[in-house]
Amino acid sequence: MDSRHEGIGMTSQRTRLRMVDRLRAAGLRDEVVLAALAAVPRHLFVDEALASRAYEDISLPIGFGQTISAPSTVGRMLELGRAARTVERVLEIGTGCGYQAAVLSRVARQVHSVERIAALIAKARRVLREARVSNVRIKHADGRPGLAEIAPFDLIVMAAAAPEVPAELADQLSAGGRLVLPVGTRDQQLVLVERIERGFQERRLEAVNFVPLLPGLAR
Ligand code: SAH
Repeated sequence: MDSRHEGIGMTSQRTRLRMVDRLRAAGLRDEVVLAALAAVPRHLFVDEALASRAYEDISLPIGFGQTISAPSTVGRMLELGRAARTVERVLEIGTGCGYQAAVLSRVARQVHSVERIAALIAKARRVLREARVSNVRIKHADGRPGLAEIAPFDLIVMAAAAPEVPAELADQLSAGGRLVLPVGTRDQQLVLVERIERGFQERRLEAVNFVPLLPGLAR
């Protein structure tokens, strides 16, 4: 599976486990999420020239002005979203290079991911196949309205910052479902929305820095 860059040491399982040790030391607690981060070969999702930096806790460029999120950011969002539940169906908005989708594929049974840039989807599909991930479906669409035809979702994770919490996304949550997303234009905050018995509970968390959610489709 790890044929690319095999043996150069920077991309081995050992390097990944060291990354996970650092994430645990930095406060990530959900062992299911940590195991998923330990298993996904992040170096396959970035350009070969950046592969040696793939296990540093940093975001990296993936082309088209977009970035792969830092592993700690992916871990934090998934830990918040999973909340130690069994997650059957998840929606990701912003597939990008497919890294977070690959991590989600080990945390949820079915992953539906939506991306507006067609060229990123082609690449993500190729790498996901190479990484032997088979439970991720990617759709070329503007993710802002969600995926009503597949809802409800136990978890919705958005990888780009929205100006406000999109109401139609919260409506696509199952009972007890969680939506995790960055909100804001200049100053962004991580927001967690939970579907409770009588409506929704919203919590505003730490400051974050994501690429903006953009309208419409791109080639
Ligand atoms: N989860 C990704 C992070 C990608 S960055 C990864 O692991 O690589 C955010 C992504 O959101 C970008 O690829 C961007 O094109 C996408 N995006 C931005 N606005 C969008 C929209 N309205 N609908 C779908 N995707 C969107």
